[in-house]
Amino acid sequence: MTANLLDFDLEGLAVFCEGLGEKRFRATQLFRWIHQRGMSNFDDMSDLAKSLREKLKAHAHIAPLPILSQQISKDGTIKWLFDVGAGNAIETVFIPEDDRGTLCVSSQAGCAVGCRFCSTGHQGFSRNLSTAEILAQLWFAEHFLRQYLNQTERVISNVVMMGMGEPLQNYSVLIPSLKAMLDDHGYGLSRRRVTVSTSGVVPMMSRLSIDCPVALAVSLHAPNNALRDNLVPLNRKYPLDELLAECTLYLAKAPRDFITFEYCMLQGVNDQTSHAHELVQLIRKHAALGLRCKFNLIPFNPFKESGLLRSHDDVVQQFASILIAAGFVTTVRKTRGDDIDAACGQLAGDVQDRTGVADRIALQRAVPIQWHPSQASSSSGSH
Ligand code: SF4
Repeated sequence: MTANLLDFDLEGLAVFCEGLGEKRFRATQLFRWIHQRGMSNFDDMSDLAKSLREKLKAHAHIAPLPILSQQISKDGTIKWLFDVGAGNAIETVFIPEDDRGTLCVSSQAGCAVGCRFCSTGHQGFSRNLSTAEILAQLWFAEHFLRQYLNQTERVISNVVMMGMGEPLQNYSVLIPSLKAMLDDHGYGLSRRRVTVSTSGVVPMMSRLSIDCPVALAVSLHAPNNALRDNLVPLNRKYPLDELLAECTLYLAKAPRDFITFEYCMLQGVNDQTSHAHELVQLIRKHAALGLRCKFNLIPFNPFKESGLLRSHDDVVQQFASILIAAGFVTTVRKTRGDDIDAACGQLAGDVQDRTGVADRIALQRAVPIQWHPSQASSSSGSH
């Protein structure tokens, strides 16, 4: 079997070229053809020696992921469903904005963390993606979009590892993928424009800060351990104080950065003013130790199996105003692409659950979470 060259960062490609008896610098030329020019046919790589092109044809290939579907939202958001074999499909979403183009990339077929409000988590887990499968999402999207939008310059300015999967549970594959994104001979994205989003895999956050300290987003979703244990099961292993202490350490390696805390707003579950005040107390304690952060409040996108509802807009605003009054930069995420189910937490793909996660979540759903319909209706004012 020949090697898929999308599986390599530049260093990996240099080692591959050496294995073919070529000089390392050939890898730089090849890497630019692949990632900057979007080429997959070695015969088109005109500045490579014919002898090298022949070796590459014998030992390598550049394979995109088969596309199962492409949906374009009325707001310009594009969602692709890619086939990754054995009945598994993953999703990738492009979100255009005035000043940026963001690609939301998947790292696993399914996810084993099983967050209660996430439709990927409800499907269970099949397997980790390879570096080639992660980079193929960016490679395809960037070069498709240049043609589709009739642009010669780069279209994707930001990558967020927020699609299907917990990227830090696929660490060894994640790192070369990130390095290819950052490489000036690859996509040339700055460290602050590539974001890894984690539900809080503390030991891997520590390694990421050393190996490739890109921007970090942490799925927080609750101001105390009792509630977070239920919403993000990984909290039972890495509780809040440990997680927040690691966030502070992460920033020591990236002194001008901040952590983005994602907080999915669930009606009556985690969206009350008492939760906002508790969150302020929690974060202030860690801010005194050096934690710098922003909050991103995410309107929940309901799906049937979750049994959860979206917070009312005025509740979200009230929650945001408490955080802002406490001095924290806080934004409310605009919902994008919800007519094609491409909004945050809606990525479901199609996953053959091999770990029983989906069954575990179904059992977990039977456990009631803090649910106060009377509070929810009274705090929402008009509802
Ligand atoms: S929110 Fe992220 S970590 Fe949690 S289940 Fe969904 S994909 Fe996995």
